[in-house]
Amino acid sequence: MALREIVTVPDQVLRRKARKVTDFGPDLQKLIDDMVDTMREAPGVGLAAPQVDVPMRVIVVEYGEEDEEPRLYTLVNPEIIRASTDHETGTEGCLSIPGYAGNVDRPLAVTIKGSNRRGQPVRIKAEGWLARIFQHEIDHLDGVLFTDRAENVWKLEEQDQTVALAD
Ligand code: ZN
Repeated sequence: MALREIVTVPDQVLRRKARKVTDFGPDLQKLIDDMVDTMREAPGVGLAAPQVDVPMRVIVVEYGEEDEEPRLYTLVNPEIIRASTDHETGTEGCLSIPGYAGNVDRPLAVTIKGSNRRGQPVRIKAEGWLARIFQHEIDHLDGVLFTDRAENVWKLEEQDQTVALAD
């Protein structure tokens, strides 16, 4: 298990557009393994490579609805190819913006295409919280933070730190 340091604002790596992955070799495999370990340790439900100071288009997400086992998703070069016209507002936080939360309006459902860690094409349909997490992570690959999209942002009290989605 190898943990990487999570970078926080105002680090400029969080504001850059991340590069497309073309090499699915050992460096990428190691990056993904480290990102999963780092996400679980934080703990968070998602992590994008720029958050560990690697400006490449890789995200990991681990999430399950209350009645199901959390499922791990690894997506390389993810792209949202469809978004529902129905939107929903939800409360988000971010491991790179510790101590803050905000309400963000996003499409309720999205379809994402990308590759898995071996470079094989994958397509995922997600809705609700899972769709929100994917959108939040994919935003990171374009240098966009939830605070850019939030209707309002507030500072969390110590005891409230766990209420917000952290990723
Ligand atoms: Zn985030």
